[in-house]
Amino acid sequence: MSMKHQTPLLDELEKGTFPSFVKEIKRAAEHSDYAQDLLGLLELSYKEKVTHWKHGGIVGVRGYGAGVIGRYSDVPDQFPGVAHFHTVRVNQPSGFFYTTKALREICDIWDKYGSGLTNMHGSTGDIILLGTKTENLEPAFAELSSRGWDLGGSGSAVRTPSCCVGAARCEWANIDTMSITHEITQHYQDEMHRPAFPYKFKFKVAGCAVDCIASIARADMSIIGTWRGDIQIDQGEVKNYAQGGMDIQKEIVEMCPTECISWDGSELKINNEDCNRCMHCIAKMTKALRPGPEKGATILLGSKAPIVTGALMSWVIVPFMKMEPPYDELFDLVDRIWEWWDEHGKNRERVGELIERLSFTRFLKDVGLDPQPAMVKEPRRDPFFFWSEEDVEK
Ligand code: SF4
Ligand code: SF4
Repeated sequence: MSMKHQTPLLDELEKGTFPSFVKEIKRAAEHSDYAQDLLGLLELSYKEKVTHWKHGGIVGVRGYGAGVIGRYSDVPDQFPGVAHFHTVRVNQPSGFFYTTKALREICDIWDKYGSGLTNMHGSTGDIILLGTKTENLEPAFAELSSRGWDLGGSGSAVRTPSCCVGAARCEWANIDTMSITHEITQHYQDEMHRPAFPYKFKFKVAGCAVDCIASIARADMSIIGTWRGDIQIDQGEVKNYAQGGMDIQKEIVEMCPTECISWDGSELKINNEDCNRCMHCIAKMTKALRPGPEKGATILLGSKAPIVTGALMSWVIVPFMKMEPPYDELFDLVDRIWEWWDEHGKNRERVGELIERLSFTRFLKDVGLDPQPAMVKEPRRDPFFFWSEEDVEK
């Protein structure tokens, strides 16, 4: 198919060595009217320096209040191919593991019902299928669900949970991130597909404190694998690292955030009482150091990007929780948190913002969590809670 629109401004974005979204849309435009008119619409926006997408109209599929994001053009007569250009969010597999067959299936379905353009993956984690008409939503969904796919979350609902590859590929995983994510997804189907919260709620599960999915900055609830007990040390392997040229003093001892490691040239010692399980030493000396034997997760709450108030990082709310199926302790905690948020949260207030507004002390009391030193927001300076006289007496 030859190009319908001249795109001199967009063409500039194809120059240079970087991958270009314009190149990809042009490839799709060889067989898609949507992509043809998408190029025309974008060119107009670049020229006029205004967006030609507008909000409006709720669209979705039967039985679901989430998973489809409605989008319309404000110049439909000029670009009929993108008069409607709705996005469909499809729940990705945990850890982003696909077979080639599954990927082809998704692409074939989207070539048939939509623009053929995808975004693998959106920032929450979903497979994003970009651009279709209202009348194609039901048939696209019917075909997706008949092949075992389901929609993800959107709006004021649980958003599609996501995780790092964890135990599937990574030796540092302290928890089975994929199993936990799968179980959360199954357990909270209703909360994901039928928005009923003050605002969105995201779960992200990382196997260790390296936190490859940045759960600590991006999830309302971050579940991060950790351990109890002493870091296991193989002194022979430590020596091998030293003999191999590693400057253990500089690269390990001086980089430990809690200054709890010492090295005298022949033996590495760790004061495990002070270790905050940041993973630095283990990640640097994989062969010599291993996490302690008892595995579990630290549960944190409250991070978000800067939309209503500024960006927030998650706070520790449970320093250590065993993470074994069926994860009842986790679900019980989540239900208590949601009840509190539901009761007190304003419209479009994330749970972290609510904690900031009503105080962490109040949150802990209402949700029934005991205050602990690991919950301090800024160590040694700015505690979030104060001991009452009763506590001191005890
Ligand atoms: Fe591995 Fe930890 Fe990264 Fe997960 S977060 S992939 S366990 S290093
Ligand atoms: Fe120090 Fe982090 Fe290693 Fe613990 S895990 S000993 S805090 S570097």
